[in-house]
Amino acid sequence: MSVIIDEEQCTGCGNCVDSCPYGAIELENNKATVLPNCNLCGVCIDNCPLKAISLERDKESGEKIDLSQYKGVWVIAEHYKQIVHKVAFQLLGKGRELSNLLDSTLTFVILGANFDEKLGDFSEYGMDEIIYVKSPILKDYYSDLYVKVISELIEEHKPEIILIGATPTGRDFAPRVAKRLHAGLTADCTGLDINPETKNLLQTRPTFGGNIMATIRTPFSRPQMATVRPGVFKALKKIKKEVPVKVIDYKFTAKDTVSKIIKIINTSKSTVNLEDAKIIVAGGRGVGSKENFKLIEDLAKALGAEIGGSRITVELNWVDPDRQIGQTGKTVSPKLYIACGISGAVQHIVGMENSDVIVAINKDPNAPIFGFAHYGIVGNLNDIIPLLIEEINKLNLNKE
Ligand SMILES: Cc1cc2nc3c(=O)[nH]c(=O)nc-3n(C[C@H](O)[C@H](O)[C@H](O)COP(=O)(O)OP(=O)(O)OC[C@H]3O[C@@H](n4cnc5c(N)ncnc54)[C@H](O)[C@@H]3O)c2cc1C
Repeated sequence: MSVIIDEEQCTGCGNCVDSCPYGAIELENNKATVLPNCNLCGVCIDNCPLKAISLERDKESGEKIDLSQYKGVWVIAEHYKQIVHKVAFQLLGKGRELSNLLDSTLTFVILGANFDEKLGDFSEYGMDEIIYVKSPILKDYYSDLYVKVISELIEEHKPEIILIGATPTGRDFAPRVAKRLHAGLTADCTGLDINPETKNLLQTRPTFGGNIMATIRTPFSRPQMATVRPGVFKALKKIKKEVPVKVIDYKFTAKDTVSKIIKIINTSKSTVNLEDAKIIVAGGRGVGSKENFKLIEDLAKALGAEIGGSRITVELNWVDPDRQIGQTGKTVSPKLYIACGISGAVQHIVGMENSDVIVAINKDPNAPIFGFAHYGIVGNLNDIIPLLIEEINKLNLNKE
């Protein structure tokens, strides 16, 4: 895609020059000229009074690309305060599986500063290669720098599949990269696989309000890009492995970003970390009232567990929003998940189905949750939970 100036229409008024946030347009012989640092943002198009500027879509879907040029699976990491988000390691676990099915390689891509010493630790997560793009400014996340660097890397190396965490950061840069490259992007995937015949990536995610699970393919464009929420996949067990590292010392210019990070202020007051919890006791509408949620808290306390809730319990103000589990809440994968008075709607299930052991307590023997639970207790939670607490307390689980 490129910005095209209609020289016959252009009068050299300079509106586009003034409006371009990247300083990527100049006047030459009284005609606008687009410079190589153009970011294709389109601001100049909106500001041209004569409609002399347009975007030429030279690689629109429909135009066939040579799919055979694209090889390998990439996982793109993100980090905050020098700590890589765990979703990247979870994606490496799935990425390994996909690259094995494709008989191709798995690459870990990280943009940052001061990671040289840590690259050895990363190599234990099962990749074949690391690409480390290094620059002091990449200590922090810059949307436009990520988009620029990742797009350039993809155009140069042509990976077949790209996996990115569906975190606020990943959700910011992934669609922009996909747009720039005319690639397909499936957001918030809950399952990824390879079609054994076509070798296309099969990207499964809830759709139509979560009532249907759709499997999406992008057979005509490359790379195939997917974002996945933390907790959906599991990281591989660490193995000692030396992997080649390609270090790219990237030199940015002032025009590469329109923003400048002065201070990062963490406004989140939440201390809830459901994604890392080993045990979660979750309550649903069946708990009956905010007051009765005390039962869930008591069971959680007896087990040393975190508390979660279905969306309805959040809407009813029985539970804090940062404890909601499901499609529009958190995705969790604890060792033990106890669902109390939760029916098992698909929007809830996608957030907890990867738990190692699921126990459901529900008075309706036909509740869908029993289709996903490893152990089911049919009955009134008001009778069952106190009995459970009594038995757990006898085991003295919380004593050293
Ligand atoms: C776009 C969209 C996104 C959504 N995102 C989410 C999400 O992220 N998370 C989420 O949870 N939901 C989500 N939902 C809502 C979801 O569809 C369900 O409505 C919700 O999960 C139901 O919550 P529940 O199981 O607590 O309540 P209900 O479906 O009302 O189930 C209550 C259950 O409690 C049982 N019960 C009642 N009394 C007792 C008792 N005394 N003892 C034992 N069992 C009892 C009942 O048999 C029933 O099975 C979303 C919906 C949409 C459309």
